[in-house]
Amino acid sequence: MPQGKIVKALSGFYYVQDGDRFIQCRGRGVFRKNKITPLVGDEVVYQADNDQEGYVLEVLTRKNELIRPPICNVDQAILVFSAVEPDFSPTLLDRFLVLIEANDIEPIIVISKIDLIQSKEVETEVQSYADDYKRIGYHVYLTSTVEANSLSEMEPILNDKISVFAGQSGVGKSSLLNLLRPDLELKTNDISTHLGRGKHTTRHVELIPVGTGFVADTPGFSSLEFTGIEIEDLTYCFPEMKERSGDCKFRGCTHVKEPKCAIKAAVENGDIPQYRYDHYLSFVEEIKERKPRY
Ligand code: GDP
Ligand code: ZN
Repeated sequence: MPQGKIVKALSGFYYVQDGDRFIQCRGRGVFRKNKITPLVGDEVVYQADNDQEGYVLEVLTRKNELIRPPICNVDQAILVFSAVEPDFSPTLLDRFLVLIEANDIEPIIVISKIDLIQSKEVETEVQSYADDYKRIGYHVYLTSTVEANSLSEMEPILNDKISVFAGQSGVGKSSLLNLLRPDLELKTNDISTHLGRGKHTTRHVELIPVGTGFVADTPGFSSLEFTGIEIEDLTYCFPEMKERSGDCKFRGCTHVKEPKCAIKAAVENGDIPQYRYDHYLSFVEEIKERKPRY
């Protein structure tokens, strides 16, 4: 039986892409029995009745699943943060990073609108943040939609993967996708269309082919709550803490007040930026406050 990827779901139909073929499928009753609703991003076994129509027979095991937008098997999140307008915010970036890491998705950091930087001071600051995040191990790209070839370095990372854009409204997500796929002509700065779609409309998501990969046409991670994330999980959402936490004296160290903590030592000697640790502490507090105290 052939296999393909659901790239679009609409009115009870699942559109399955298998190489060059694009087949409109209905689900067979098995899904209702197993309580599985096929999602955009699913790898499925299907049966084609002809060149255009068929049935989804089986949904293969998912790697992950997002609720908003409803999509699964997301490989990476392209996290767009503008250098200015709005100003670069490492606090918000770290919040997004935690949510993305917690979903087992690889974050790619894009610092956009670098052409709008007005002062040497801001330029140095943005560059220093970019260096910090690179040092942690993240891919960081500086982009501008007004400079030719600004995306040439970034483009290949979209190949063979399912990517979802994330980031505040107005940072340039639609503009970037327009550069990647000029034929789409997404409206920029218009929250009722595509990437900037308003929060409360019914979500419909579609995977757009870009190179040999796919990009979701709706941004992800619109809710920035740490629902479902526990304090113990947080260390794993900060790669520079995860790699050092084995050296803490206490197993299960939360790196707050425990003695002989490898994370606090790394902050003190400058190996971990102070602001990253401060954000970690504020997230710990936030998660504590979420819980009823006994
Ligand atoms: P979105 O809400 O994240 O999709 O942001 P948009 O793509 O709609 O961009 C918001 C505004 O910023 C639009 O007016 C864009 O033209 C502008 N913009 C986006 N990226 C850049 C950039 O790299 N340089 C400049 N100068 N303007 C940009
Ligand atoms: Zn520790």
